[in-house]
Amino acid sequence: QAKGAGRNTLGFFDPQLQAEVTARAALEADLRLAVALGELFLHYQTQHNAQGRMTGVEALVRWRHPQRGLVSPAAFIPLAEETGLILELGHQVLVQACTLLASWRASAETQHLTMAVNVSSRQFKHPDFVQQVVDTLAQTGASPLQLKLELTESLLADDIEQIIRKMEALQTHGVGFSLDDFGTGYSSLSYLKRLPLDQLKIDQSFVRDVLTDPNDAVIARTIIGLGQSLGLNVIAEGVETAQQRDFLARHGCQAYQGYLFGRPMPAEQLAPFMDTLATV
Ligand code: C2E
Ligand code: MG
Ligand code: MG
Ligand code: MG
Repeated sequence: QAKGAGRNTLGFFDPQLQAEVTARAALEADLRLAVALGELFLHYQTQHNAQGRMTGVEALVRWRHPQRGLVSPAAFIPLAEETGLILELGHQVLVQACTLLASWRASAETQHLTMAVNVSSRQFKHPDFVQQVVDTLAQTGASPLQLKLELTESLLADDIEQIIRKMEALQTHGVGFSLDDFGTGYSSLSYLKRLPLDQLKIDQSFVRDVLTDPNDAVIARTIIGLGQSLGLNVIAEGVETAQQRDFLARHGCQAYQGYLFGRPMPAEQLAPFMDTLATV
């Protein structure tokens, strides 16, 4: 009958869906292997203050698939979240980022720089997360004061008290927090003031057309104003042009990240940015 046929069409005999399921399973198997072999690595994108000086970097995970080449984290992070692989992947990211961060303690040019690390909601909610961060800092020798965790609004969807407790526990150690992709989620403004945040990150979807789309301009300005009211640093991500930066600066934005300043790059390529800093 019609109902059963419909279900079959969707569930078993749709070749396109079948192909998607197969491709997904293959990607998952490959990702599982890459994580097990420790093949994921990090690129770093610089962050800058209003004067243009580099203040730190954001670590962004990269995966070079043997056949597909570089796969975007936008494609494999959601998969890693669904399958639970994010726990091991996230741990590896934290260890790599903190290892580089620890090396920055040695010199005066780098010991003030911050390292922002993206943490997925599932990872943050894991009962061992706080201990994992504390252990990783201790084992790598990185300073908690230079570590900034980027959380997203999706984290705030449930058990906010628990989230706040964990953030406060990490804050006690000196770890900072930035709320990534701000404005795209559904965080309640009443939560915002209760979270021990240091920074709001204006999502790049608002920055992209900030000069041409009045709605995006209003949203960007509102986030900057909100940050000022709450005493939070506001950083704009996805800044590609000087015009975008100037607009945001006129409205009080204090920090910037985007192709205008630099693309995500291997750690070795950060040196010139640090040299610039050293000679300022
Ligand atoms: P995100 O944390 O919001 O990172 C910003 C993304 O924007 C990065 O994409 C970055 O390469 C890109 N971007 C930076 N500047 C510009 C610009 O000027 N223009 C444009 N068009 N794009 C710019 P990427 O590296 O592909 O990462 C995508 C997302 O994947 C990240 O968004 C983050 O949500 C997630 N991700 C990346 N690394 C990790 C990680 O280690 N752990 C977790 N949980 N998620 C990660
Ligand atoms: Mg981020
Ligand atoms: Mg973002
Ligand atoms: Mg994003």
